[in-house]
Amino acid sequence: MSISPDQVVSLHYTLRDDAGEVIDRSAEGEPLEYLHGRGQLIPGLERELTGRGAGDRLEVKIAPAEGYGEYDPELVQKVPRRALKGIGDVRVGMRLQAQTPEGPRPVTVTHLAGDLVTLDGNHPLAGKTLHFQVEIAAVRAATSEELAHGHVHGPGGHHH
Ligand code: ZN
Repeated sequence: MSISPDQVVSLHYTLRDDAGEVIDRSAEGEPLEYLHGRGQLIPGLERELTGRGAGDRLEVKIAPAEGYGEYDPELVQKVPRRALKGIGDVRVGMRLQAQTPEGPRPVTVTHLAGDLVTLDGNHPLAGKTLHFQVEIAAVRAATSEELAHGHVHGPGGHHH
């Protein structure tokens, strides 16, 4: 069976950056499962997987625009520490929810200088070229219940 929309795909993956550093990988013996064609993976990876089948191994390089987006400097802002009251110990690398006119948005603390805290609303992988090594473990048709819910149910049946 080759991968097309509304199939359940199980895959093992390793994600590296341009320097070859491992950024993320699926857990040993626990492939990632997702419903193909529903935007659950980044667009570039879904495109590369379309038409492939169980047992295929591939190496793909994905540009930021088809990954987590280009880095947007306008999503970086500096706020005084007092704007973060209620958060005890602000540290670089901390993930916070910023309140914005468009609703809550995840931000990362990227710099601390005196009274100023730099908050970056870009995805941590924005602007990065992604290098995936993928091994497709299995492909199957989704059940009607999975399609209705828009997500994969595990081997034990339903889970939320
Ligand atoms: Zn469900």
